[in-house]
Amino acid sequence: MSGSATAQLIDGKAIAAALRAQLADAVAKLKAEHGVVPGLAVVLVGDDPASQVYVRNKHAQTVEAGMASFEHRLPASTSREALLAMVDQLNKDPLVHGILVQLPLPAHLDATEVLNAIDPDKDVDGFHPVNAGRLATGQALFVPCTPVGCELLLRSVIADPSGLHAVVIGRSNIVGKPMAQLLLAANCTVTIVHSRTRDLAGLVRQADIVVAALGRAEFVKGDWIKPGAIVIDVGINRIEQADGKTRLVGDVDFASASQVAGAITPVPGGVGPMTIACLLRNTLIAARYRLGLDGQV
Ligand code: NDP
Repeated sequence: MSGSATAQLIDGKAIAAALRAQLADAVAKLKAEHGVVPGLAVVLVGDDPASQVYVRNKHAQTVEAGMASFEHRLPASTSREALLAMVDQLNKDPLVHGILVQLPLPAHLDATEVLNAIDPDKDVDGFHPVNAGRLATGQALFVPCTPVGCELLLRSVIADPSGLHAVVIGRSNIVGKPMAQLLLAANCTVTIVHSRTRDLAGLVRQADIVVAALGRAEFVKGDWIKPGAIVIDVGINRIEQADGKTRLVGDVDFASASQVAGAITPVPGGVGPMTIACLLRNTLIAARYRLGLDGQV
């Protein structure tokens, strides 16, 4: 890794498309050899517009990969009991290998309770405490999709990050914590920073790998980046421009960081496209795991 005036762009769109094609081949092989079609059930409660788009995209890409997609759309007024009964039904359904409950849920429903009701062996989002524990103890089965996508992007530029110092900004259960676990498993030296961290910029300056997942538009500046570092930008922020139009930006100030980094993911077109591809990957892992096959794909 040497410093360069302009960083290599990590093309998440292309890497995700290649992964989906590879998954489609593996799905066809599983079907031919074992007569099993991996099935993904998605439960959407209410009519949050962003969730509607995600669920539509998930359905289209699931079908395109040759998997079965089961969509369950429930009204925003759905009771706790009705939702838990739906999860229970999907837990028992042999055609369903993976279950995803789209977040956010309406305010009267407790997301933790609902996610914890999913059979851990069908938990393709990797949010169940059993799967967090599996990851933390070196027995990973389902790892949350966004951090898996980040690791694949990282490995597209550096096959073995062993020994490098990775700084993860953010400590959510969905991104920051599992990301740190994955990097640790890849033998990085990992620092997790968050809103209470002192001298965040100083710590980021020491990083060979920066993963920014804090949800603050263009927060990480170019002069925080060590020359040649690899920068993975998880953030998705919509900002208003002078002309009144909105624009998607990451948690990293791309214009300045891309002048210093060795490689960097753009927003959009970086981490975003990887997330659904990794959900499909987890669904295939679930089907293989149930058959007693090696979980790796
Ligand atoms: P959360 O809001 O759950 O977590 C944000 C984390 O960042 C927290 O740990 C918080 O610290 C930390 N943080 C917030 N502000 C600061 C600050 N000023 N300095 C240092 N740390 C800070 O967010 P998520 O993890 O769910 O998501 C992070 C970002 O990634 C968002 O932009 C989100 O849109 C995006 N995202 C993108 C996905 C994709 O597919 N590309 C998927 C999921 C998320 P503390 O714990 O101390 O509060």
